[in-house]
Amino acid sequence: MLMEKERAEIVEYGKKMSESGLCRGTSGNISIYDPETGYMAISPSGIGYFETEARDVVVMDLHGNVIEGSRAPSSEYGLHAVIYENKPEARATVHTHSPYCTTFAVLNQPLKAVHYVIGGAGVSEIPCAPYETFGTPELAESVKNTIGESKAVLLQNHGLVACGPKLAKAFSLAVNLEFVAEMQYRAMCVGTPSILSDKKMAEAMERFKSYGQPAKNNEKKDSMGY
Ligand code: 13P
Ligand code: ZN
Repeated sequence: MLMEKERAEIVEYGKKMSESGLCRGTSGNISIYDPETGYMAISPSGIGYFETEARDVVVMDLHGNVIEGSRAPSSEYGLHAVIYENKPEARATVHTHSPYCTTFAVLNQPLKAVHYVIGGAGVSEIPCAPYETFGTPELAESVKNTIGESKAVLLQNHGLVACGPKLAKAFSLAVNLEFVAEMQYRAMCVGTPSILSDKKMAEAMERFKSYGQPAKNNEKKDSMGY
């Protein structure tokens, strides 16, 4: 089976996405990209995360061709492909309908620097890509045109997409951005949130580089502090 390890990881993180409340029902999807083969492993379309097994995960190229797998791939395969085509360091992508991020996507408003952890996306504001129907090349194009330097983007009236150098990091970015969105929402309920300046965010992002445990020999830390 091609990309066996990656398929198992997608099954594992699908359950995490479900359990953490980032995705309800069959909403959302996950992929892992291997630049050596040019293939990505992606979750199947419309199968519950607790029903998905490694053999249900589909291996595709970035042109939409199924290389291995008997299931229909996620309807958002084009969205995942556009991330790998445009973000050289991206190796994994998660798409969620997480409720607080989606609240701002419904408002068509960006996530702001109400909390420093937004810097995990490498930027101090998460933009919102104009609405297009789910699962279409137009939605992928909208993301391509909006994402800029960010590792994440809101999808108007839809949800969030986040990528990272590995799946654990893409997932953790989605979790952190859901926290930022919740804080932005809560603060707006009772007042006007204060927004960290670009200077303060630059300082926080610099500190991310040395956050946590020292990097192992051949691993380099990036702006996400990993
Ligand atoms: P899939 O089940 O096809 O991955 O679609 C879920 C989704 O969130 C579409 O935007
Ligand atoms: Zn979706």
